[in-house]
Amino acid sequence: MNRLAGRNVLVTGGSSGIGQAIAVRFADEGANIAINYRKTPNEAEETEALVKRACDAVKESGCKNIVVGADVSDEEQVKEMFNQVINEWGRLDVLINNAGIQKAAPSAQMTIEDFDQVLSVNLRGAFLCAREALDHFIKRRDGGVIINNSSVHEMIPKPDFIGYSVSKGGMGNMTKTLALEYAGDGIRVNAIGPGAIVTPINKSWIDDPSKKESVESHIPMGRAGTSEEIAAVAAFLASDDASYITGQTIYACGGLTLYPDFRTAWSSE
Ligand code: NAD
Repeated sequence: MNRLAGRNVLVTGGSSGIGQAIAVRFADEGANIAINYRKTPNEAEETEALVKRACDAVKESGCKNIVVGADVSDEEQVKEMFNQVINEWGRLDVLINNAGIQKAAPSAQMTIEDFDQVLSVNLRGAFLCAREALDHFIKRRDGGVIINNSSVHEMIPKPDFIGYSVSKGGMGNMTKTLALEYAGDGIRVNAIGPGAIVTPINKSWIDDPSKKESVESHIPMGRAGTSEEIAAVAAFLASDDASYITGQTIYACGGLTLYPDFRTAWSSE
């Protein structure tokens, strides 16, 4: 499929996990990719090589991929990143707000530094990037697409991860609010709600067979998801196949949002 041919796409947190898979999938579909890294360009080396390979395979006219640094929670760095991307390409068509972190602690012991840091990256960062993208889309008067990588924890509470849970709940509201505010400008804003996906953010259980089995026992489809399965949803939402969809969170979670404990009839017995 070549649904994203010629589109210019910025992926935040593009150096690993779901962000990397989105960058590669979008390159596969013909897009030019700006891969955002947080601190040093070598973070983005692996994604850059994979994106180049995907891009070379589908484009005869050459690829226009770039890497751009920014801590998404820093307003000046975000502005600089957008300037760099727009100066380089002349226009941006799609923003993928993917960068995210999590910090664990019982809420009664959660430090305010950890709480603030998670909110700063996951929610403030997503808003700062959305604001720059919206300003560009509106001035250009040619529409645009924003996709927020949220989580099942947009709707399912996550004890011991209060900052993460709140940030994703906020991301759901931000998705709807921005979608409503800018629907008339041809700008679509949607979110993806991944369930448990095998990526570095889940290093606490992905390499431990018994912990992984325990995680997967809670998932109706019986397995964790892959980054590629999330990237496929992102590619659909960014493409014209989703031209009438805005303000929605598409949950890609193997059924985690279906109240799995109700699989049996215990509640009526
Ligand atoms: P990951 O740790 O591989 O990816 C997170 C990325 O964000 C990294 O590339 C990291 O460098 C980047 N990042 C962190 N702080 C940043 C900052 N301040 N500025 C710029 N970049 C920053 O993990 P992942 O699972 O691929 O996570 C990507 C997104 O998917 C996150 O928003 C996460 O909340 C969401 N998500 C993941 C899962 C899952 O099970 N893996 C489930 C639901 C949602």
